[in-house]
Amino acid sequence: MNTQRSRHVLHIPLALGLAFALAIGSYAAPAAQRARTAAAPAQVQKNDEEYTKRILDATPDKRILTELVDHMPLSATVPSPLKFLGYVPGENNQVTYHKDIVAYYEALDKASDRVLLWEIGRTEEGRPMVALAVADEATIRDLARYKQITAELSDPRKLSEERARELIRTGKPIYYVTGSLHSSEAGSPEMLIELAFRLAVEETPFIQQIRNNCIVVITPVAEVDGHERYVDNRRAADAGQPQPGMTYWGKYVAHDNNRDGIGKGLALTQNILKTFLDLHPQVLHDLHESVTLLYTSTGTGPYNPEIAPVLVTEWWWLAQTEVMEMTKRGVPGVWTYNFYDGWVPNYMFWIAVTHNSIGRFYETQSYGGRAGGPPPGGREGAPPAAATAAAGAAQAGARGRGVGAGQSREWYRPFPVPPEGVQWSGRANINMQQSAILIAMNAVAKNREMFLENYYLKNKMMVEQGRTRPPHAYVIPARQRRRVEAAELANHLRREAVEVHTATAPFSIGNVQVEAGDYIVRLDQPYGGLVRTLLGVQWYPEQNPRPYDDTGWSLPLLRNVKTYRIDDPAVFEKPMALATADFKAAGSITGSGGTLVIEHTTDSNLAVFRFANAAVRMYAAEQPFELAGHRFAAGAFIIPDADRARLEPQIRDLGLLAWATDSRPNVPMHELDLPRIGYIHSWTSTQDEGWVRMVFDKLRIPYSYFGDNIVRQGNLRAKYDVIIYPNGPIQVDGAEAPTGGTPQPYKKTELTPNIGTAPDSTEDRRGGLGRDGLRALEEFVAQGGLLITEGSAASLFPEYRLLPGVAVDQVEGLFAPGSVLKVLLSDKTSPILYGYDQNALGVMYKNGPNLIVGGRGAGAGRGAALPPGVGGGNLQPMATPPRLTTLEGGPPPAPAAAAGGRGAGAFGGRGGFAVVAPATAARVILAYPNDANDLLLSGALVGGDNLAGKPALIDAPLGKGHVVMFGVRPFWRYETQGSFFLAFNAILNWNDLDAGRAKPAAAGP
Ligand SMILES: [Zn+2]
Repeated sequence: MNTQRSRHVLHIPLALGLAFALAIGSYAAPAAQRARTAAAPAQVQKNDEEYTKRILDATPDKRILTELVDHMPLSATVPSPLKFLGYVPGENNQVTYHKDIVAYYEALDKASDRVLLWEIGRTEEGRPMVALAVADEATIRDLARYKQITAELSDPRKLSEERARELIRTGKPIYYVTGSLHSSEAGSPEMLIELAFRLAVEETPFIQQIRNNCIVVITPVAEVDGHERYVDNRRAADAGQPQPGMTYWGKYVAHDNNRDGIGKGLALTQNILKTFLDLHPQVLHDLHESVTLLYTSTGTGPYNPEIAPVLVTEWWWLAQTEVMEMTKRGVPGVWTYNFYDGWVPNYMFWIAVTHNSIGRFYETQSYGGRAGGPPPGGREGAPPAAATAAAGAAQAGARGRGVGAGQSREWYRPFPVPPEGVQWSGRANINMQQSAILIAMNAVAKNREMFLENYYLKNKMMVEQGRTRPPHAYVIPARQRRRVEAAELANHLRREAVEVHTATAPFSIGNVQVEAGDYIVRLDQPYGGLVRTLLGVQWYPEQNPRPYDDTGWSLPLLRNVKTYRIDDPAVFEKPMALATADFKAAGSITGSGGTLVIEHTTDSNLAVFRFANAAVRMYAAEQPFELAGHRFAAGAFIIPDADRARLEPQIRDLGLLAWATDSRPNVPMHELDLPRIGYIHSWTSTQDEGWVRMVFDKLRIPYSYFGDNIVRQGNLRAKYDVIIYPNGPIQVDGAEAPTGGTPQPYKKTELTPNIGTAPDSTEDRRGGLGRDGLRALEEFVAQGGLLITEGSAASLFPEYRLLPGVAVDQVEGLFAPGSVLKVLLSDKTSPILYGYDQNALGVMYKNGPNLIVGGRGAGAGRGAALPPGVGGGNLQPMATPPRLTTLEGGPPPAPAAAAGGRGAGAFGGRGGFAVVAPATAARVILAYPNDANDLLLSGALVGGDNLAGKPALIDAPLGKGHVVMFGVRPFWRYETQGSFFLAFNAILNWNDLDAGRAKPAAAGP
């Protein structure tokens, strides 16, 4: 690959000189194109007979085939996939390493002047990600100019109408397609190998239309680390060896790599965002696999209200075009609408949606074959074991496997799979995806000006909306308590290409006092919709179809950053300057003396500072106090005899606020002993723990990482002071240390070079936690260790009745699907709340667990049915016949209207209550408000009375140690920076958690 290869030599492939096909069934070439090519002799391009035969042989059911993909033209100069790789994509469900796809793309780039390959960045494990552009020779040569055109169209503030019209007339839409974000969905990279070649060499008017009027950009694999591991698994299976499995996809998360669109913590999201902002493509199309046979995205709604109205119609226009064209060609099972909603902007393709382009996706019947077919309801579920995927693939072969029987005919699926089903294969998956995407690309190319004009108009309308309708801006005070996080939130927006200004003089607007240096995010800019959805709050009516994912994500709440919404357009006239570089909150040291006192602001950088200076003795103030005219919150770091020359540059760089004094402050304090941290993962799903681990890595907090089946070896206290146990599958009963059988290694071998290289490997992943592991954890705590748990792990000790007085609550009809809830800081003397100088906090609630203190509980109380009215709407009315009544029976009573439970309380209101816990009882650190109507901050909530007044975070002593249990999700998808320090406080104060109790237990110095 190369980024800036000059193309002085125009190398025209032989085939181009010969051929302009008049293939039967193709569209007529547009007039302009005909004129340009009039001199060329009319001659049909020869097919590659061998390649063509192998396509047909690998397609067991010829209904899953179109004239667009049933052949492959012969090229004398450009190597075909068959020639280069030795097989036709889809044959025998062959999967190709990304490194080999890149090698093939390099060969394409070398052989064809219609192709340009470049690297777009690296993965967490250092593998390159790539993009390949395909268009006609002149367009590739002038790619920089075409990128300039779409860039200009993205900002209508700087364009005259005349200039815009000229750009629309001369520009070309860019269609950016991404494959295999999900590592078990392996068909798209194979399809994209072939698509690149076909677009580069085929001379039908249909393909020429695309190549001459549109620029296709391909990232064949979005999750490169995971894809290489998936291919490793398939290699092992093909060799008859046991498969290591897909414990890890990327370094951190699996399927959730498609939930990083808000936090943007993963390298792949960052690389694709950068590429998107470089290209300003009109379409970003992400290829997935799950449902029968091809779903093209529109969604059921509710649509996020910040989606540009024109985009909604573009979604439908493209999807209906695909459904119509595929149906015309006799391909069954192509549909839209009834899958996915269109609400939360956390999917990767929402990079386009939030930047006024068309973000869309396919779900194709799977390439490899998942045992049992798609999950019920058609929802992309938990990652399937690679073992089942490969087993299905092995059975499939060329004779195909029957799928799809029994699909109902619906308005959104006019041609369902016939009752007898179809014979499916890997090649069928490729035929299906490739045919449909060629139709979409052709439609965009044919309507080149419409898509460029729409793109321009969407940007223009966003500017206009921010200019004329409130809100008109958001203000983020720069010198608020969490100033590092405030700067980071402003930088987060800047990385999204949102303009951020700073006030150049103080002013007031409405009842907001703005200081010089405060961050101002004006909404009269093209990406104002993105700002509104990230900084605003979400109202999700519960009567909608059951949400596909989270319903609330408001970042000021989750990141605990104050922002002000400005509804007065006079803000546009206020003194401000556009920022041209990222913000950095500057730290400071005030006064002089040998003792440093650092304010605890709950900015994560304070944890970075502590771990970066492990050898330095630091203490935590147990109460608020005053010094040198400054009031410090409880938890301030005190560093006696500080090496100021060493620490001060760090304090300034990390944005910390320090005061120097000659005497030790007169306040109770204890030493912050740095713990040795152990970290548990399961071998069956590492997804949720991966999000937690990513934060620890980003902040350089060291830990030892091991599988749950290691825990049973015991002796934990000798090695660790703190153990982190995040959400994940936990098996206690029935899980036993294997005494015989075949070990299941997860490690690097000659066949599996990409496995076990990171983040963990083992000779045997069997066993799980088991009773032995649970006992080992209990012993660890009893001997003075701290166990920090969230999600499923938080209910572990209560479910096994290991903590007197703490139980899992029984809940009925609770509906809070990824919602931002309010919690009150209920025990402000606890070290876990150090630095949180407020009464209430916004936290992410997702499936509990719901814990109670002092009650009896009901054992495992999760998984209750949804309340009536929630997730309503039978989405397939024709599939399930209505239940008819009789004269005798009568209809069942209508379900009661769902309880309200909304009406968000004001953030930070309702003064918290200080509870001082007695010496041995569990401490409720955070609690939900008593009033169910005061719970929901953003998203959806029904049945809030299940939570009202109950604990959200508990610190329970056990023996000499503690178990800290989060009922909320403090490390959710890199969105919850405001909650991080709850866990860091527990870690840093691990052996002093009893500080602040009524009768303090023996605490540290
Ligand atoms: Zn997927």
